[in-house]
Amino acid sequence: MFHKYKWAAALLGVLLTAAPIYWLTSWLEKQGEAEATITARWSVAAMDVAIGDAAATIREIAARRTATCDAPYVNELRQRVFRSHYLKEIAIVDAKGQTVCTDLGNTFSVRDVLVSSATPQPGLMLDAVRTDTDEQFLRVRLVGSRGQPSIAALLRADAMLPRLTSDGERFSGYVRIALVDGTVIAAIGDENEKAVLREEGVVSVVQSESYGPSVTVAMRRNGVIANYNDLRRIGMVLTGLIAIVILAGALIVPWRQTQTITSEIERAVLAGEFIPYYQPIFDIRTGKLLGAEVLVRWRKPDGKLVSPGEFIPLVESSSIIIDITRSLMRKVCSDIGTTIEARPDLYISFNVAPRHLKDSAILNDVGAIFEGSRIRLSQVVLEITERHELENLTAARRAIAALQALGCRTALDDVGTGDSGFSYILKLGVDIIKIDRLFVEAIKTDPQAQAIVATFVDLARNLRMKIIAEGIEKAEQIEYLRQMGIVAAQGFFFAPPLPAHLFIQLTETLVTRSSKEEDVAAPVKGYVAAIDQIAAA
Ligand code: C2E
Ligand code: CA
Ligand code: CA
Repeated sequence: MFHKYKWAAALLGVLLTAAPIYWLTSWLEKQGEAEATITARWSVAAMDVAIGDAAATIREIAARRTATCDAPYVNELRQRVFRSHYLKEIAIVDAKGQTVCTDLGNTFSVRDVLVSSATPQPGLMLDAVRTDTDEQFLRVRLVGSRGQPSIAALLRADAMLPRLTSDGERFSGYVRIALVDGTVIAAIGDENEKAVLREEGVVSVVQSESYGPSVTVAMRRNGVIANYNDLRRIGMVLTGLIAIVILAGALIVPWRQTQTITSEIERAVLAGEFIPYYQPIFDIRTGKLLGAEVLVRWRKPDGKLVSPGEFIPLVESSSIIIDITRSLMRKVCSDIGTTIEARPDLYISFNVAPRHLKDSAILNDVGAIFEGSRIRLSQVVLEITERHELENLTAARRAIAALQALGCRTALDDVGTGDSGFSYILKLGVDIIKIDRLFVEAIKTDPQAQAIVATFVDLARNLRMKIIAEGIEKAEQIEYLRQMGIVAAQGFFFAPPLPAHLFIQLTETLVTRSSKEEDVAAPVKGYVAAIDQIAAA
């Protein structure tokens, strides 16, 4: 069962980590494709504008008068080139497209016409030309009527090619503008990288509907993580990822720990590792032993003792606490049964978890374990804590009454520490109230603690309940408690919770003075001395 959770947690971890990475990768891919398409569309639009501008200019010039190479005409051409952003050169060309003269007179840059292709616009041709510096350009040319010379305009490549990405960053890919037959007329980026780009990049091709040439854009997929916005988005994803992992860890680790310790406790119950310790309870007027409270200890296989504070809260709300209580009760019978049987006025007090009161489970357990055992039901006290409010007061009240009918006594533990106040004491009908260590500690210095204890004493007297004071550590506390009329007490001043053999020795020494002096363990001598001191006072 535990292993199932472990695998589920591991699978969850993998999914939590893989999902954002998968998402980031596919986002980058989409982003790359979108960027390439945007760039291609932008270039086609720029090219269409450049061709359109050039075509309009040369049509207008041609419409005015027949093209010649005379100075005024050439001058006018030069004016046009200067004024236009798109034009590099305007030339007068012959019927075959060869340059006759340009806006600079007889100097011209076109060396070869590589290909000519018709456009959807009547009378308008597009040429790929090579210049004497070995660059290729796009030329827009009017077709002259009946072998007449006509006008052609060379376009600036940089007016059509993208310099920036859509986010305003430097463009880092390969862009090529080609005529319909594939002849390249303008390109930027590293041509050699093209192959690589095709393999691990994204390619977008967009064709101009107005004039025919196409723009090819090839970009590296990761080429798009170049700008601030992208980095910020990735940073957000990574931060989110880390947050998810931390959150999952924060949820899973304590849960796993609880799982681990719970299954460990289940095993320990079966292995009998929960053992009772016994804290003696005394009459502080006479020093007489009245009984003991059973306090559980977890004795690990390595001998280490674990205090109940480290595991009781973890199992108090599960049925494991019921198993622990049952096994403690049986262990108490076998540990000290003989000692207790011989002294019918001693009682043994057990701590009972609130959930054990439900469905009269406690009643069945107490009956099954103590009926016919060495410990009489009249020697059994059951402590119910006031710390957590009981879910169902009526059911608790009924369970307490049934236990009393069986012959047991009940005690309300930690009185004064809960929120429920005196109402509990009144409603539950317990036989004993145990005043918490907090009040005993404060009794000397805090008048409010004194007042509360005084109220408890009054209440107990009226309702015929006994009182046990917990956590006595100093002789002066005993003095106060006596003055207030409290009789029974337990605490480190007398003895801490003791293992069974020491508790038996202490009992025998105190009650019958039967143990021989030399058989008594040194600590027990100390406890006896403390108690004798009380009796003498
Ligand atoms: P509790 O029922 O109030 O038990 C008294 C606690 O105070 C015990 O702690 C005891 O060792 C400690 N104590 C006794 N005298 C003194 C003193 O003079 N000074 C100080 N500072 N402490 C003193 P322990 O044994 O660690 O048990 C802690 C709590 O665990 C118990 O408080 C009880 O609520 C719970 N517990 C212990 N055993 C069981 C059990 O078998 N079943 C259940 N359900 N709860 C148990
Ligand atoms: Ca208790
Ligand atoms: Ca207590």
